[in-house]
Amino acid sequence: MVPGGLAPVKRRAPSLTLTAPDWYPVALMSNTPEQAPKPAWDAIARALDESHRFLLVTHVNPDGDGLGAELGLHGHLTARGKDVRVVNQDPLPERYAFLDPGGGFESYDAGRHDAMIADREVVILLDMSRWDRLGVLGDKLRTGDPTVICIDHHPYEGGGMAHLYGVDVTAAATGQLVYEFICRLGHDVDKRMALGLYVSILTDTGSFRFSNSSPRVHRAAAELLETGIAPHEIYEAVYGNFGPERLRLQGRVMDGMRITPDGRIIVLAVSRRDLEETGALAEDAEGFVDVARSVSGCKVVALLTEQKDGRIKVSMRSRGDVNVREAAMRLEGGGHVYAAGAVVDGPLGTAVERVTALFEGGDPGEGDD
Ligand code: 5GP
Ligand code: MN
Repeated sequence: MVPGGLAPVKRRAPSLTLTAPDWYPVALMSNTPEQAPKPAWDAIARALDESHRFLLVTHVNPDGDGLGAELGLHGHLTARGKDVRVVNQDPLPERYAFLDPGGGFESYDAGRHDAMIADREVVILLDMSRWDRLGVLGDKLRTGDPTVICIDHHPYEGGGMAHLYGVDVTAAATGQLVYEFICRLGHDVDKRMALGLYVSILTDTGSFRFSNSSPRVHRAAAELLETGIAPHEIYEAVYGNFGPERLRLQGRVMDGMRITPDGRIIVLAVSRRDLEETGALAEDAEGFVDVARSVSGCKVVALLTEQKDGRIKVSMRSRGDVNVREAAMRLEGGGHVYAAGAVVDGPLGTAVERVTALFEGGDPGEGDD
């Protein structure tokens, strides 16, 4: 009996595949423009053994995966007595402040950091494989001469930015790769490192609900929980700590959503005015893209957020049939087949039209897999 005596909502039957799951890495491999070098874990291990001064870096607009991987690797190297600095172009977002009560995540400042950076032996790039994903810090690092190691789970894009690659597109998160690497070295993971690495996995699998939630990543998560970290506390820290402004912004953005008549494409837009009038921050809009993908029959969602400089950050998610990596590459961005992004010129209205047209006019990559 349905509460209140209401008839159950009639839903369209979901199209379930009952055969072996097609973990998205298979689809990713077929879309990789250039085969990544085989992961050089042994050579990376030697570089870690032989060096003392390290710099860890992740991409602009850092997310839970990049930051969590940094925290895990920072803990590992520090435990081995290394001198480790963590510097990203952007400051630690407020919602991830719990990862760093000691202020160890620094935001790049030429005056404060250039001499230190010039003196590093090894730079480890986490969760990205393109210099432009590092913003101004990328311009600085690409001209230096330390050994560059790239640990990442994005499709390899060539360009030869690193000396050593630990790229594995079959991993759900970069933090998972860092965890597996530390295990391979036979070293322990303490609770603080586990917190970071679990946050990596939690956020990049969408709390274990995306198609990258493989048995392997669940095993890594389970082992991290064995250290004594509590999943509900971490979930609360990541997803239960927003201000009420975020909900107001969400209401407004969802209210203004654009959906194509066939219901396949949803485009959400966040303007500076929306932020000013609700008191929310641009980073509060992260996650809206995943709320909208819950609509039955929807195949792809794009979220466009107007930045302070007037440029538009585009976040795209696919529910399976559409290759959003391909779409993002048409906007000079990139990412995964099912989650990708780019930054495009404003104004917002023009960007909304441009992104909608990308999917309306022969969906990029549809039917590729
Ligand atoms: P999000 O939508 O959560 O910001 O990003 C999803 C994925 O898209 C990221 O993991 C990253 O791979 C990719 N991505 C997001 N923004 C950009 C961008 O501006 N450039 C590139 N190359 N990739 C991006
Ligand atoms: Mn990632």
